[in-house]
Amino acid sequence: MRKSQGIPVSNGIAIGPCWIYRPLNIQIEQYIISDPAGEIARLKRAFEEAKHQLIQLQERALENIGAAEAAIFEAHQLFVDDPEFIAKIQTDIQNNLVNAEMAVEQAVELFAGQMLALEDDYFRERAQDIRDVGHRILCCLAGVSPERQQPPNPVIILADDLTPSDTVQFDRRMILGLCTRRGGPTSHTAILSRSLAVPAAVSVPLEIDDLLNGATVILDGSTGIVTYEPDENELITATQNKAEWDGHWQSQIQTAHEPAQTRDGYLVEIVANIGGIDDAHQALKFGAEGVGLLRTEFLYLDYERVPSQEEQTAVYRQIFSLMGDRPVVVRTLDIGGDKPVDYLDLQLETNPFLGWRAIRMMREKPELLLDQFRALISAASKETDLRIMIPMVSSIEEVLSARHLFDQARSAVQKAGLLQVEKCQFGIMVEVPSAALIAEHLADYVDFFSIGTNDLTQYALAVDRTNERVAYLASPFHPAVLHLIAQTITKAHQKGRWVGLCGEMAGDPQAAPLLLGLGLDEFSMAPASIPGVKALIRQLTLEGCQEMATKAIMLPSTGAVKDYLASWLENHT
Ligand code: PEP
Ligand code: MG
Repeated sequence: MRKSQGIPVSNGIAIGPCWIYRPLNIQIEQYIISDPAGEIARLKRAFEEAKHQLIQLQERALENIGAAEAAIFEAHQLFVDDPEFIAKIQTDIQNNLVNAEMAVEQAVELFAGQMLALEDDYFRERAQDIRDVGHRILCCLAGVSPERQQPPNPVIILADDLTPSDTVQFDRRMILGLCTRRGGPTSHTAILSRSLAVPAAVSVPLEIDDLLNGATVILDGSTGIVTYEPDENELITATQNKAEWDGHWQSQIQTAHEPAQTRDGYLVEIVANIGGIDDAHQALKFGAEGVGLLRTEFLYLDYERVPSQEEQTAVYRQIFSLMGDRPVVVRTLDIGGDKPVDYLDLQLETNPFLGWRAIRMMREKPELLLDQFRALISAASKETDLRIMIPMVSSIEEVLSARHLFDQARSAVQKAGLLQVEKCQFGIMVEVPSAALIAEHLADYVDFFSIGTNDLTQYALAVDRTNERVAYLASPFHPAVLHLIAQTITKAHQKGRWVGLCGEMAGDPQAAPLLLGLGLDEFSMAPASIPGVKALIRQLTLEGCQEMATKAIMLPSTGAVKDYLASWLENHT
């Protein structure tokens, strides 16, 4: 028996035979060529074949998995067509007489290296996509198929890493769980496992070469613990835990569409954090009552230039029309910090999280926000419950300037005869401590607040949210963060404003009773967290939560708060 601890990325427990996945290894030799034109023709054929395979995979992904996975293969096709990538390879062949395989390998490593140099996990994971495309082209050059064998029966897949091409070809009925030695919470393994709703763990320190196909494995996707060849007692315990977990999840799913009302009749709004239309579908499936955070920066990250007003309108319209009359909180552009784009004149900064990001771009580039406001207002229909929200606000002046632009945009849309929306609220994120501390003044200029605990925690505790070495310090349960949350809610309510929370904390079952007790009006979270949080709220009373919250925020440390919440929950659920 061997136990390994990884990062949990998709809840649930899988028990079954393992299947060790080893990708095809292509050996690349370097040699001098004598016929560059012939070599380029060979390269072109390989590119055409790779593109053909990617189109087929895109179709297969769309049928078997979903639009998000299919979009990955669309992105791979774009890379195969990328003129810079092609030019780099052809120049190497023509000028340096390098063989096609070596030229492809060098170009792939150059482009992947550029991605890996970026701070953001998202881009680092994309280096894997580039290598995946490179591997496909090399297979085509070698005349072998990059598609690989299928799991023979339902298995827990163990691998060093899984690329999108690997994952899409597996028959999903054969996947009990996924476990990789590499990868982080935004890797493809994590994305796929969540959309398939199978347990998964990544970054598990397994020596793949020492493992045997067919050996029994227990994979706990809630704790990230993987047990290879468990003993009998462990198997019995895991089987019981699995039955309990599966029953629990099924009953949560069955009631996910019912409201989150406490036992004493208090109704809480449960909405979703989304990045695009696929998440919006997922949100409705899991019982979201609307959207509490649409992160629009993903739209900008998809482009190599600022998306035009029309392009933005088309994307927003799709989401609004799916949501009907449910509320949709749209956050305006939150680029910068850990989300860079090439085209916005972002410069390398010593402290990007304290620098030129989000609403701070408005002074130099007001047209960016104006365009986004116009696109949002004109995309909304008569029934849309539109709520626009500004990120990273730290002062009254920023709110006044943004509101001024918002009014300008609204008049422009009206003048053009395109104004249909009747319900449109204007709010801000409270994610900088200064905003929480002047909440009573800010409340005079907005309709609502949404607390961003991911950033509020990093700024209040001076902990860079991307730095793993100090991650142990970052907790929204720190009493300082709790005071900022409590004060924001109290001051907003005194002025008749509602308050939501859209940081990761909102989807944490330990936080739900505390936030409820502090008077939070709206909880916004990842779609898959919704059924669990709703089920929990139905077991609580507002009065009990209020009493508990008053005590919890007086405690002196994160540890004391978490211990208190854990024991309170045990006694009240
Ligand atoms: C937050 O800061 O809590 C938040 C929801 O925004 P993001 O994680 O996108 O910065
Ligand atoms: Mg934030």
